[in-house]
Amino acid sequence: MELIVATGNAHKLVELSELFPGHILRRPADVGFPDFDVLEDGDSFIANALKKAEALRRLLGRPVLADDSGLAVRGLGGRPGIHSARYGGSPDGSVKLEAGERNAFLLKECEGLQDRACAFVCCLVLSLSEERFFVVQETLEGELLRSPRGQAGFGYDPIVYVPGYGKSVAELSSAEKNAISHRGRAAQRMAALLADLEG
Ligand code: IMP
Repeated sequence: MELIVATGNAHKLVELSELFPGHILRRPADVGFPDFDVLEDGDSFIANALKKAEALRRLLGRPVLADDSGLAVRGLGGRPGIHSARYGGSPDGSVKLEAGERNAFLLKECEGLQDRACAFVCCLVLSLSEERFFVVQETLEGELLRSPRGQAGFGYDPIVYVPGYGKSVAELSSAEKNAISHRGRAAQRMAALLADLEG
């Protein structure tokens, strides 16, 4: 099935494409909507993912996927959470930090923190019509490092350590990350559901 993904993040699209073999995933820009954007003003991952999915499905009138994801640090009460993409920048979004700057900002904020447990969270929505949609939310549990490690991946990957692998997420191969990540786990469940729907 061809699915349009409500994201402008090229890296996310690459990860999701690997996770939905047998399906063709495209961005709104690929089907003539380069300016597609949704104000992510929900108070949870699920609210934001549903909002993005519904806005894009209404616009295109065809099946879409949307995700909302982020990093929740337990000792910070779940921050940056739904604000992960904009963390450390200005509230109106006019000042946005680069990923490296954002990681440094978060590590500084967590300098004295004892409980460094954190989780990547991904809420994935498949919207087929106004009445038919499916939601999966998954996590990747880890620990916040004290300095970045690794070059792969994107965003907060270099500062999240995965104990079971003895590596940061940015030190995992893309196959390793896809097998255990929040987005990978959510996508595996959604791909199975899609196969079931199509079969
Ligand atoms: P979204 O595009 O609104 O879902 O924002 C997600 C933000 O959370 C990204 O910009 C990253 O900062 C962070 N994030 C989500 N997933 C990952 C991941 O797999 N690795 C690293 N950072 C991630």
